[in-house]
Amino acid sequence: MANRWGIPQDVETAVIARDQSCVYCSIPFDNMSTTSKKTWEHIINDTALNGADNIALCCRSCNASKNNKVLKDWLQSPYCQRKNINKNTVASVVKKHLEK
Ligand SMILES: [Zn+2]
Repeated sequence: MANRWGIPQDVETAVIARDQSCVYCSIPFDNMSTTSKKTWEHIINDTALNGADNIALCCRSCNASKNNKVLKDWLQSPYCQRKNINKNTVASVVKKHLEK
């Protein structure tokens, strides 16, 4: 079984357990709030990469800002600068992609 984004069920379960807050801005997920609602994110924008190392949960605000930008480029954006999101503040699953 895969969800509507093509993410396998076991990956989905693992990521939900791992990511309790936005992997980018660290805002805790709160399903009651629209701005901190969790959304599925492909860290590398390739829907063929559906492993737990590329799938993460981030808030709607970060997802909308990142959209289809390359991670490294997005981290230089005004949005990230304003929110103080950088390679040192992101979750470890994201950091791994920046170390490559
Ligand atoms: Zn966020």
